[in-house]
Amino acid sequence: MQWAVKRYLVATALILLVAFFAVFITSRERISLEYFPIETKPVRVLTCFSSSDTSLRVTTENLCPDGLIPLGSSALVESATASGEIKEIHPLLQNRFDAAKAAALSDGVHLYITSGFRSYARQKYLFEREIQIRGSETEAAKWVLPPNFSHHPHGLAIDVNYPGDPTGAKWLEDNGSRFGLCRVYANEWWHFEGAIAPGELCPAMSPNALVDLG
Ligand SMILES: [Zn+2]
Repeated sequence: MQWAVKRYLVATALILLVAFFAVFITSRERISLEYFPIETKPVRVLTCFSSSDTSLRVTTENLCPDGLIPLGSSALVESATASGEIKEIHPLLQNRFDAAKAAALSDGVHLYITSGFRSYARQKYLFEREIQIRGSETEAAKWVLPPNFSHHPHGLAIDVNYPGDPTGAKWLEDNGSRFGLCRVYANEWWHFEGAIAPGELCPAMSPNALVDLG
């Protein structure tokens, strides 16, 4: 009888020991996983536009399916090449505008770009002309930025339906976020930039362009 009790106790001790090591090893595993977390890659969602039915589709592939135009997967904040080499509106900004224009047309609204890419020389001329009109560089910069600050010479800004059609531009202000387009200045109803990824919310507007430089 005593022998049986001893065997019972030894068996219990062994089971407890094994259980203890099992818990110890799995908890070590948990801890070590925390120290070496599995890297998760963010999924970039490319938004594509169908000009035949003006619908937007999203894909996690790098390319839009045949026949759809890409609108991109992020805000357009920097052009790919040095500013001196840029001669046109950034292709994705152009695609976003073309998509918005087609969607606006199906709502009976005509959108058009009145000024997109501007050379440094052109922007410099416009800034200097604005100084004459407004009386100082500070006042001028609220309306036309100096060439080294404006996004127009980078192909990253468009003026839409200026000067005669604020109503058309209002359509873009209300609907542009679907296409990654935002009005960015409270004093310029015509100026739009690709400030967000398509489908995100546009940030609050700055009072004017000069405030953004601060
Ligand atoms: Zn502008």
